Amino acid sequence: MGVSENARLVLEKRYLIKDADGKAIESVDGMFQRVAGAIAASDLLHDKNADVERTKKTFYDMMTNLEFLPNSPTLMNAGRPLGQLSACFVLPVEDSMDEIFEAIKQAALIHKSGGGTGFSFSRLRQKGSTVNSTGGVASGPISFMKVFNMATEAVKQGGTRRGANMGILRVDHPDILEFIDCKSNNSEINNFNISVGLTEKFMNAVESGGDYELVDPHTRKVVQKLRARDVFERIVDAAWRNGEPGIIFLDRLNRDNIVPSQGEIESTNPCGEQPLLPYESCNLGSINLTKMLKEEDGVYSFDWKKLERTAKDAVHFLDNVIDANKYPLENIDRVTKQTRKIGLGVMGWADSLLRMGIPYNSQEAVALGEKVMKFITACGREESAALAVQRGAFPLFEESILPQDTPQRNGTISTIAPTGTLSIIAGCSSGVEPVFGYVFIRNIMDGTEMVEVNPILREELEKRGLYSEGLMRRIAKEGTIAHIEELPEDLRRVFVSAHDISPEDHIRMQAAFQRGTDNAVSKTVNFRHDATREEVAEVYSLAFHLGCKGVTIYRDGSRSEQVLNIGKVN
Ligand code: UDP
Repeated sequence: MGVSENARLVLEKRYLIKDADGKAIESVDGMFQRVAGAIAASDLLHDKNADVERTKKTFYDMMTNLEFLPNSPTLMNAGRPLGQLSACFVLPVEDSMDEIFEAIKQAALIHKSGGGTGFSFSRLRQKGSTVNSTGGVASGPISFMKVFNMATEAVKQGGTRRGANMGILRVDHPDILEFIDCKSNNSEINNFNISVGLTEKFMNAVESGGDYELVDPHTRKVVQKLRARDVFERIVDAAWRNGEPGIIFLDRLNRDNIVPSQGEIESTNPCGEQPLLPYESCNLGSINLTKMLKEEDGVYSFDWKKLERTAKDAVHFLDNVIDANKYPLENIDRVTKQTRKIGLGVMGWADSLLRMGIPYNSQEAVALGEKVMKFITACGREESAALAVQRGAFPLFEESILPQDTPQRNGTISTIAPTGTLSIIAGCSSGVEPVFGYVFIRNIMDGTEMVEVNPILREELEKRGLYSEGLMRRIAKEGTIAHIEELPEDLRRVFVSAHDISPEDHIRMQAAFQRGTDNAVSKTVNFRHDATREEVAEVYSLAFHLGCKGVTIYRDGSRSEQVLNIGKVN
């Protein structure tokens, strides 16, 4: 099968079964056999005579053709004793010592199994308020986040992958100002992504220039009023400085809460794409869009029939994962199976646009993105309805806000994940992100350098007789081909990289995919180093008005350890 050397290395390091000496005793093919078999076997729970071999072959082909991949924990753990298959969890943090430390323990169990956890700390009483049982003073949400962080740090040594956390605080919590700056100058919260939970009331006060109230969650009393614009500017300033906090729009998440009877959605998973109720978990999977194209006389376009078939098989796969999963807690097992949410998304979007010759930052790309994602969700819904006939609707279907005419097996269908590892395995651009850089110079251990070129760019340049190593080095150095004037105009227009695309165009693409997605979209809006705070603020407002569920921004060079660098690979 066609996995690259890079992909093979990643799989060997983390995913394949190893012996006591750490040597892989499973091949890449063996891994896909294991996963396909374990997930197909769930069919038997609903039909004793199910043709499991046939389903296994469908799942195996889809994965080995790199058309669809489930999230990493499924690849690592399916068909193995640990058996935890989900990437996303949200745990409640209640305002008592017992419950806080219970949440830490639960998070540790989840991290050990490769899952990431999200928490809202909004229910914890404010720093400095009294603790009844001791007469002491409460230390507040941020101090407890440091304890969660330490536990994550310790567990990550022995786990399958780095445990990740999301920490949310509502904008009306009295400790909000401390929260906004809590990651600015220390590493005590380095295992968290943080986001401020914004309310529409707050956003309206920002726009009208008014005040808003801070409420102590313990006493439910208003303790202070702040000018909304000041707080908004402070969030913008912190994000401009080092990319955090992000923001999420809580009212919008709750408008799409399919079972409001079960309580409010307070948090998402670590990368923000999956809002969940407390104790809910979700498994994700992504379709590689570059494999959904067909070619005719050198012209690429979507093969809608193939995309439909793949989306339907993927929904079958992800629904089976819910039953094959071994949940880290009894409560998570129960709550997850009440709504049976799945998160089908995409990767390779930017690469697909390159193939089709459509610039990422064009109206055509935005319209096509929305169309593709709406199509995937609609096909997924059809499959989920078909599964419901056979297997029954999810238990809370009648209580849900979903249209009641067609029972559904799954409460939600779609989510757009970052696909950090999956896109390496599939060898395509990640999620719905634009290509970050087209050429990288990689230093090999013996001092030699290797030039890595985006395969679609290489093909195009070779076809036109324009490929040379000198040109590649120049692209690596400049980070973009947009300014290389001797290259044809059409290439410079289509082969745009993250920094050639305006932040507004990043958000427009995020909003387009959001319109076709039940859950949320993982996306980072890239800013140039010299971007201003005002530009960041404008993008936040645009995201609010275009219906995004949250925003993460990153200004180039604003953190000392940056994961992606133009022109150099760490
Ligand atoms: N995640 C995690 N630790 C990691 C990477 C990811 O816990 O090191 C979780 C987290 O909830 C994230 C989700 O997995 O939002 C999906 O991330 P991604 O799509 O990058 O994962 P992949 O399946 O590609 O490994």
